[in-house]
Amino acid sequence: MPSPVFRFAPSPNGYLHLGHAFSALLNFELARASGGRFLLRIEDIDATRCRPEFEAAIYQDLEWLGIGWEAPVRRQSEHLSDFREAMEELSGRGLIYPAFESRAEIARLVAERESAAKTGASWPRDPDGAPLYPGAAKSFSAPARRRLIEQDLPYALRLDMAAAMAQAPDLAWIEHGEGAGGETGLVAARPEAWGDVILARKETPTSYHLSVVIDDALQGVTDVVRGLDLFWSTSVHRLLQSLLGIPQPAYRHHRLVLDDTGQKLSKSTKATALRELRGQGATPADIRRLVGLP
Ligand code: GLU
Repeated sequence: MPSPVFRFAPSPNGYLHLGHAFSALLNFELARASGGRFLLRIEDIDATRCRPEFEAAIYQDLEWLGIGWEAPVRRQSEHLSDFREAMEELSGRGLIYPAFESRAEIARLVAERESAAKTGASWPRDPDGAPLYPGAAKSFSAPARRRLIEQDLPYALRLDMAAAMAQAPDLAWIEHGEGAGGETGLVAARPEAWGDVILARKETPTSYHLSVVIDDALQGVTDVVRGLDLFWSTSVHRLLQSLLGIPQPAYRHHRLVLDDTGQKLSKSTKATALRELRGQGATPADIRRLVGLP
């Protein structure tokens, strides 16, 4: 049996907080306990929000916690061509279309659809609470798409979910943790809950969903251990793995570290940032205690 491969994959768009410490420590310790490897990956595809000082702080905070990782660290921004290639493959199979609505236009379309609905039903939302794509771009002809692209409009490249699911029906993943509803063991994927998800944009050849799946495969990750907030994203990840013919890791979604009011921690809250706590004299042992690790 090859040894298991775990990873921690933060985005350098803010300072790490207690929730990240919990996830990183869990991955590191599961790797050690199983004689496996532990990788660190920097998910820095969002050039507008990621900053070098946040990346430097990730290394400092993890080292301080006593976590060690293999070099070199994979930085997603350094191999965008891998993501581009996957987009071309999906595009070549007729699964991708450009959609030109801005966020504001999408909100307006959703409001229109909701006020037109005789039943008063609200427009469907994805598991993160964002409205499913309400536009008509999927039905545009090839010449119409070309015309819009030539007008230099910004656009998102969306997955035609119905067509994609027809090519990869009945997917499931192995869950070693459990979902908020207690889902564990073999969990049926429900990618349709996300509608026509965005897989890339005009300016960025990838998205979280696409790059996480490709990098986990390229790095040989066997065990994805991450927060429960990403539980249902796994549906999209399974679909992409199946479409792209790449192996599927096992998953373990862990509890989230919550603040005093029961809310998920945010990178913008100073009080729970690791560097802030360290500055106030907290030790790595205090951090373990704060996140409920023995
Ligand atoms: N980069 C993601 C985040 O910081 C985590 C990705 C993952 O673990 O799948 O939330």
